[in-house]
Amino acid sequence: MRNIVEIVPGGMPVIVGLILACLLLSMIPIRPQMWLYPLVREVVVMKIEYQTRSMLTKETPHFIIRYTDSDVDIVDMVAEASEAAYRPVTAAFNYEPSGKTLILVYSDRQAMKQAYGWSGDASAMGFYWGGIIQILSPKAWMRNNPSVDEFIRTGPLAHEFTHLVFDHLTRGNYSRWFTEGLAQYMEYRVNGYEWVTADNRLTGKLYTPEELDQNFDGLSNQSLAYRQSLAAVRYIAEVQGDAKLNQVLLYLKAGERTDRAIEKTLGMDYATFMSLVNLWAQGNMQQYSKAAN
Ligand SMILES: [Zn+2]
Repeated sequence: MRNIVEIVPGGMPVIVGLILACLLLSMIPIRPQMWLYPLVREVVVMKIEYQTRSMLTKETPHFIIRYTDSDVDIVDMVAEASEAAYRPVTAAFNYEPSGKTLILVYSDRQAMKQAYGWSGDASAMGFYWGGIIQILSPKAWMRNNPSVDEFIRTGPLAHEFTHLVFDHLTRGNYSRWFTEGLAQYMEYRVNGYEWVTADNRLTGKLYTPEELDQNFDGLSNQSLAYRQSLAAVRYIAEVQGDAKLNQVLLYLKAGERTDRAIEKTLGMDYATFMSLVNLWAQGNMQQYSKAAN
């Protein structure tokens, strides 16, 4: 990921201006970085929109899709999947981000690798960063002539759009594992999709809460880290109820840390919460089996 100073047009003077604006706004009782963050994100979006202006463009009611010649034949499918994600995700959060969302479509992994903010997960079909959704062309990872329904169900748009809406709603105030849990929870609820592999059974050795909190992207078994994240969010929503999940989001929006938001909502300490999640997940979540996959 490039340094934010290199990405923001105007570089350091603009950043200093934003920081000063932030300090003034920080008179209001909320974490100061939560005021600065949306401003920086908007500037990043404007810059990337400008830099990608020569790409082909397709606009839908809620998205601006930028793509290249090689994806002319699948851009309608991307447009349909994006709009299919819009209503259920914004309804679940009761929040619609302002303006249209920019989606960049890369024809292959190499092009995506050189893109803004991509952190290098070789298996990723897309990612959300800095207010923008970036996806790999379905032609690079799906069989020939995939159906729109299949792309909606297994593609990355519901997942990435959830990251975006949650990021806007909370002004960037969340831990990595929580946003990944939430994005997978929306994929699961809207499309019935779960990322289940032989490596992410929840019946074996699991990551500790500290590992998930402090080093999510550095954990060697990413499929397990993601699966545990989904388990935690599903536990809140399905065992404690949707109202509790909404309460956690409200605390995050108000500036609480993720662990505190969960503790305050559920009335239990964080370690107890994670133990209950693991117990529940062993008995209630699908585990990989050779026969089923
Ligand atoms: Zn994600």
